[in-house]
Amino acid sequence: MNIILFGPPGAGKGTQAEFIVNRFQVVQLSTGDMLRAAVSQGTELGKMAKAVMDAGDLVDDAIILGIIGDRIAEPDCANGFILDGFPRTLPQAEGLDSMLAEKGLKLDAVIEVRVPDQELFSRIEKRAAETGGARADDNAETLKKRLEVYHSQTAPVLPYYQDKGMLKTVDGLQTIEAVTAEIMTILEG
Ligand code: AMP
Repeated sequence: MNIILFGPPGAGKGTQAEFIVNRFQVVQLSTGDMLRAAVSQGTELGKMAKAVMDAGDLVDDAIILGIIGDRIAEPDCANGFILDGFPRTLPQAEGLDSMLAEKGLKLDAVIEVRVPDQELFSRIEKRAAETGGARADDNAETLKKRLEVYHSQTAPVLPYYQDKGMLKTVDGLQTIEAVTAEIMTILEG
């Protein structure tokens, strides 16, 4: 099963992805986690990505597509994967399509977790407090930029999947358990 989990920063994608991983034995592929690992390891990719991430901007499409292309070719992805935080632009969505077609793979579901901006500010503030500011981009100023980027560059990807009849939207204001239950119904249906 190959799934895209969509949603703005703080929507709960990472939390829900974990439940899906446990239920369906798929691999969670979070481009944000991969980039943060590169930053903490101090690799060339990490050095390049850090400033972009700290500013709340998006890392270059070609780089992201390269990372995902390499990752989904690895053996642990054979049982399926859940894409968390990717694709984030239309070129990434199109690149993913060609990549999957080349490998003879397809998407089974595209799920959007929808949460209004106002709620995201309080959630990100809470996450920053809980993690002791572990993520440099978890602050009100950068979140504002990340949300702008989400609305201008990522939200336009939704109609792309809607036109393919693949998009399912879940109300992310519900409790974590209720969101999980809706997602499971979609995936099992
Ligand atoms: P996330 O953990 O998904 O919120 O990602 C944190 C940051 O990593 C984002 O604000 C971007 O700077 C960068 N990033 C993560 N995924 C992508 C992507 N698919 N395309 C471009 N930049 C990304």
